Amino acid sequence: MYAKCSECEAQINVPDDAVSGEIVTCPDCGLNYEVVKGENEVSLRLAESMSEDWGE
Ligand SMILES: [Zn+2]
Repeated sequence: MYAKCSECEAQINVPDDAVSGEIVTCPDCGLNYEVVKGENEVSLRLAESMSEDWGE
C-alpha cells in the first residue's frame, strides 16, 4: 500500500507485510515514519527523531 507523506505529500511505499513499529522513510524528504497498524488499515506516524544531527 501507499501512504502520503504529511510533509511533502510524496507517496511512501509501505510493504504489505510491514509490522507495527517498522520504520519507513519518505523517498522525497527523508522523514522517518513509524508504521501503525490498525484494524483494517495501516497508517504512518512521524517517528521520533532518532538522530537529528547527521554530522554534515
Ligand atoms: Zn516527504
